[in-house]
Amino acid sequence: MLTYNTKKYISKIGDLSIEFSEWTSKDQTNYLKLIESSEKLNKEITEKDIINTLLVPSVPELKSTKLKLSSAQKKKLLIDIRKISISEFIEDNVSCPSCGNKDDIKLKIDDIISYKQASYEPISVDDITITLKEKYIPNELTSNKSVISFIYEDFINKIEYVTQTIDGEETEIITPKNKTKDIKEFIDSIPSKMFNDIFEKYQSMVDEVVGDYIYQCPKCGHKETLDYSVIPDFLWV
Ligand SMILES: [Zn+2]
Repeated sequence: MLTYNTKKYISKIGDLSIEFSEWTSKDQTNYLKLIESSEKLNKEITEKDIINTLLVPSVPELKSTKLKLSSAQKKKLLIDIRKISISEFIEDNVSCPSCGNKDDIKLKIDDIISYKQASYEPISVDDITITLKEKYIPNELTSNKSVISFIYEDFINKIEYVTQTIDGEETEIITPKNKTKDIKEFIDSIPSKMFNDIFEKYQSMVDEVVGDYIYQCPKCGHKETLDYSVIPDFLWV
């Protein structure tokens, strides 16, 4: 097979270093075909479509189960590949919501988009502290389970220790010796309000791609925050 010898690049995502190659003309064509067919069939392009078309060809390790990335890590990786393959700039046209002035802007990706690693600490609510084996990693969710039950099960499986402060003394309730059944039983017995607070904290400890840009209209001075954490079109924007 006659192929061009493509260079390899490294994407740094938090503590991870992932090797990737830039998009080939075939990847670009496949992506354009994806857009075309989604327009024709009036079907939305899903995260899975994007990953299969634009991420897996550049990072073949993603096909194996060894490399597991969160949605935010995949997004950062996609942005890095896009930076090398297309341009390190995003070009956009902004319509001022205040005066209607149209403006073409060009922004350097590295100046506006960054990856924020998840914080990871024990969850404390009222007199309870929960220590997890592993942080919450939001990923593409399986379609056969509802989102909440999926996250709930994931949460139960990650609990390592639970301590409760009883009469001013910290008591261990759950230790690594407890079985999933015991853990589930205990979690089911806590007050619902407490559970909601814990669950909310658990779901907020996530990594994310942030990309806020404060745009100021040159005509009227109106300020608007533009969100570039979601790049609507990987190839051309
Ligand atoms: Zn304006």
